[in-house]
Amino acid sequence: MSKLRFHAIKESLAYKSIHVEEKGRRSNVFGENVFNENTMRQYLTNDAFKGVINAINHGKKIDRSIADQVASSMKDWALSKGVTHYTHWFQPLTGVTAEKHDAFFETTDDGMAIEKFGGNQLVQQEPDASSFPSGGIRNTFEARGYTAWDPTSPAFIYGTTLCIPTIFVAYTGEALDYKTPLLRALHAVDDAATAVCKYFDKNVKKVTSSLGWEQEYFLVDKLLAASRPDLMLTGRTLLGHSPAKGQQLDDHYFGSIPNRALNFMRELENECMLLGIPVKTRHNEVAPNQFEVAPIYEEANLAVDHNSLLMDVMGRVASKHNFKVLLHEKPFAGINGSGKHNNWSLSTDTGINLLQPGKTPMSNLQFLTFFINTIKAVHENEALLRAAIASASNDHRLGANEAPPAIISVFIGKQLTKVLEELEGVTKGKLSPQEKTELKLNVVGKIPDVLLDNTDRNRTSPFAFTGNKFEFRAVGSTANCGKPMTILNTIVAKQLKDFKVEVDALVNKKDLKKDEAVFNVLREYIKSSRAILFEGNGYGEAWEKEAKKRGLSNNKTTPEALKAKISKKTITLFEEMKVMSKIETEARYEIDMEAYSLHIQIEGRVLGDIARNHIVPTAVKYQNILIENVRGLKGIFDKKFESVAKEQINLIEDISKHIEGINSNVTKMIDERRNANAIIDIEKKALAYCNKVKPIFNDIRYHCDKLELLVDDEIWPLTKYREMLFTR
Ligand code: ADP
Ligand code: MG
Repeated sequence: MSKLRFHAIKESLAYKSIHVEEKGRRSNVFGENVFNENTMRQYLTNDAFKGVINAINHGKKIDRSIADQVASSMKDWALSKGVTHYTHWFQPLTGVTAEKHDAFFETTDDGMAIEKFGGNQLVQQEPDASSFPSGGIRNTFEARGYTAWDPTSPAFIYGTTLCIPTIFVAYTGEALDYKTPLLRALHAVDDAATAVCKYFDKNVKKVTSSLGWEQEYFLVDKLLAASRPDLMLTGRTLLGHSPAKGQQLDDHYFGSIPNRALNFMRELENECMLLGIPVKTRHNEVAPNQFEVAPIYEEANLAVDHNSLLMDVMGRVASKHNFKVLLHEKPFAGINGSGKHNNWSLSTDTGINLLQPGKTPMSNLQFLTFFINTIKAVHENEALLRAAIASASNDHRLGANEAPPAIISVFIGKQLTKVLEELEGVTKGKLSPQEKTELKLNVVGKIPDVLLDNTDRNRTSPFAFTGNKFEFRAVGSTANCGKPMTILNTIVAKQLKDFKVEVDALVNKKDLKKDEAVFNVLREYIKSSRAILFEGNGYGEAWEKEAKKRGLSNNKTTPEALKAKISKKTITLFEEMKVMSKIETEARYEIDMEAYSLHIQIEGRVLGDIARNHIVPTAVKYQNILIENVRGLKGIFDKKFESVAKEQINLIEDISKHIEGINSNVTKMIDERRNANAIIDIEKKALAYCNKVKPIFNDIRYHCDKLELLVDDEIWPLTKYREMLFTR
């Protein structure tokens, strides 16, 4: 193994970075490989074009003859670009994207061949989906799954394949993917938000949810990564002593981007431009070899697709540049991990961002309505929001004093806190003309000025208001954004729906004016959701205590957190908002819980293998060298022997202790795994993996990492942190 390590180091040092040219103006190539509105206008008949646009904007069904026309035009466009295959592209519950390619090519009766692609193939496909997780849905119903075209996310060409974004559902109608419930949640939030907007502007017909994600990642030389079985199999290093220099000097963050990484980024961005992914920002992150890429925000469904696609493209482009891209939340212990901030907002078809203060008191009241309803939604559903981002890998990050804590809270800044305090004092029931004027001029009217100085961003908050959007920061870097976006949009939809009922009741039964009713309901919301607002240091122990007093949940591990996904409240919420049926909700819970156990099981196996079969033999080898040395010394020195060989003898003893530590703990871990595997109940099994198996990882690692410091570097088998983290 140490041979592989030194070979990898040598090769990585000799590697010459591929130079990537900028292709001139990006706006010229943007969306070139996307069957977008522009392309459709060129390729489709008027009728077909209108049909698709109606489907996109108003969810209208596309009829057969139009589907045929669209398919035929898509094929012509794709063939003109050298495409040979098409695929339905979807996001099953594995979390990664799936595709099965079919050639356009068909044979004809006369022994010839043509390129064919009809409406049937565009609209629906039946992949052999028996190996995708279904949480028991398909077993229960013995039904197969099929994919169906999502016209709201445009088809695109990747390589020589035409990719058609689709949903993935069971024949009985249950969703088997992330996209289906997301689309339903976006529909729910559109309905609820549009109804509330009508209090302020009758012209609003549609509200769109937007997402701008920020993707963090690490780049490690491909060969160096390949020399680490833990990185290759689990996405993270399960052992490795921290390097003498890590991120203490803060010299990487926003520093000049190393050349090799920059070339990777250029090529990635060029690919993104062709695919219509509007990436805009790139920079070094806090940890060495850690970077970030962020796009301009888009409609949430499209943004989710684009992020999923990006993660796939990143892997391929990295490989070309001899990198392995690490999307794991915590690839290296002791230095920062990676997240994926989800910047979220709602905007109207009249061009108003509902989370951005406006210019008039009325538009500010609208802003406050959406702002406070979001806070209330988070307060009512904090445990579910925590569950939305729960995964074995994100557990390493949340609450690890560098990332948002596992406690969900909302940061809004000093000034808005003051505004809410003043609104809390609004009179119950009817307001005097003086109070109304006072509110409009001095509270609601002042918001835009106030926000201009709202720059005190609190990086420790998991859910922060940042001027014109909320930023959900606890999302993990490997996550499919569909999960948190489905839950966030659903809880806000439900909240807005309830809000409308309450306001209408005050208007109809208590004879309040609309704005009076809005003020009255908002006042109560501020009071009842005060517990979720937190401006202090989210990393501190004091906050844990305080949050407990406030009744906020603090679910540090995935198995604990996931329970909120099948609480009665959650099931009712999803049913009421028509986002997921009880069966769908329960299926997802099962899949997440099982995935957790499997993750820890795989990590345990890999760690056991490395510790016993790589580290222990290396330690024994070095110990033997020391023993030889001591024997030699004994031959040369007579009386002085003990003092001359003292350190070596200590070392020999130390190594023995660590070998014993490794072996006994690996045995213990295997026993605990065996116990966990025997448990049938998925929740109890996950808890056993979490509380009995996982803690032993640290003990095994401790002894391995100590040995890394003791054993001769020449024979150490695993590429070290310092070697992986500072390649340029
Ligand atoms: P940072 O949070 O790192 O300071 P920015 O605030 O500039 O970065 O933006 C981060 C992400 O938020 C980007 O993807 C950006 O497009 C997105 N964003 C900006 N405005 C909105 C908005 N109104 N709704 C949703 N996302 C937004
Ligand atoms: Mg941000």
